[in-house]
Amino acid sequence: MDRRKFMQLGLACSLIPLVSLESSAAPAPAGEVQEDEPQAQALNYVKKASDAKNNSKYKEGNNCKNCMFFEASKNNGCTLFAGRTVEEGGWCAAWAPKPK
Ligand code: SF4
Repeated sequence: MDRRKFMQLGLACSLIPLVSLESSAAPAPAGEVQEDEPQAQALNYVKKASDAKNNSKYKEGNNCKNCMFFEASKNNGCTLFAGRTVEEGGWCAAWAPKPK
């Protein structure tokens, strides 16, 4: 793993405890991740990647489908949204490239 990927993974992991604390007061959501949920907002998740064009972390062409956390075999799941579904064409600030 190169330094850039290591730093991206570190950022993603550092956001998980914050999101977990925030969401512990409400019942765990299920199904498709919605943009207005606290965890999604914390990660700047959008269902359509191009909607993130004003986010400094977004690069054209990056989306959930080519993110290392995307789990196509788990009903388009995402490691950061355990048990939930995200859009293939979505994006969030924790995006990191899939290892080749
Ligand atoms: S698959 Fe990647 S870009 Fe999509 S929500 Fe999960 S971490 Fe964010």
